[in-house]
Amino acid sequence: MITVIGSANMDLVVGTDNFPTQGETVLGDIFDTVPGGKGANQAVAAARLGSSVHMVCCVGDDMFGKSIVSNLQKNEVDCTGVGVVDGASGIANILLSEGDNRIIVVPGANSLLTPAHIDAMDEVIKKSKVVMFQLEIPIPTVMYALEKCREFGVPVLMNPAPAGGFKAEMLPFITYLTPNETECEQLFGVDMVDALETHPNRLIVTLGSEGARYFDGQRHVIVEGFKTKAVDTTGAGDTFNGALAHGIVEGMDLERAVRFANAAASLSVEKFGAQGGMPASEEVEKRME
Ligand code: ATP
Repeated sequence: MITVIGSANMDLVVGTDNFPTQGETVLGDIFDTVPGGKGANQAVAAARLGSSVHMVCCVGDDMFGKSIVSNLQKNEVDCTGVGVVDGASGIANILLSEGDNRIIVVPGANSLLTPAHIDAMDEVIKKSKVVMFQLEIPIPTVMYALEKCREFGVPVLMNPAPAGGFKAEMLPFITYLTPNETECEQLFGVDMVDALETHPNRLIVTLGSEGARYFDGQRHVIVEGFKTKAVDTTGAGDTFNGALAHGIVEGMDLERAVRFANAAASLSVEKFGAQGGMPASEEVEKRME
């Protein structure tokens, strides 16, 4: 069983030929509402692969909150740990124009996830084989939940994004840490190779289409990505993390779990939307053959 403690948003996607300049109104040609948020995306990624997943997050008592929960349930994510609070759900306002994007995130209910919500899930956290974190919820709540995982002896997988929320004191609580290259540099401020060698079998750096790498204590393990035609890389990292957690819970060794995660993420970039291309296990196994 996997528990995800993180964010859930509704993405409001607008496509237009030109971004408006200050004071200008332009016409758009696309509008879509798509469930997102790193926490919810990673929960859905792991659930699609067949893991039993609990989501701990907060949504607002608005219409987006209802659709966020119904989307999680449709993907068989257990929502016992979803708190409903007064006010607005988290949203990401995404403007798309000719391959460029401009995004405003309003955390809304995500900023109201408190230690009390974590305490209510003690029994589930205790039974989890991995607890997953990102950094789109209040950092004191992340710290509180990390301490709880250590108390219960539950392994932690943290995707440190956005990297600005990361604190060095989180490190001792983390079993697997999965920044991309840019985040790795922001976190450690040293060359990636040095960072990897300081955190063997714990720091796994994702490298976009190139795959991912870690240091096993003796050698650098570079796990190559799967070549494919990428249509939309949104959520590639979320699929990677959900699949890595799934692989670990299924008992794969680290190298195989990273390869499995690369394969799952390569399938996800072939379709539009963060959750749109998240694959089932059979598709991933097939890609790995
Ligand atoms: P995101 O775009 O979701 O923010 P990220 O920056 O967190 O992603 P990346 O390192 O870009 O993370 O990608 C995560 C994983 O997705 C990679 O390790 C790789 O397995 C896979 N991936 C990303 N882009 C591609 C691609 N173009 N082709 C194949 N696999 C890809």
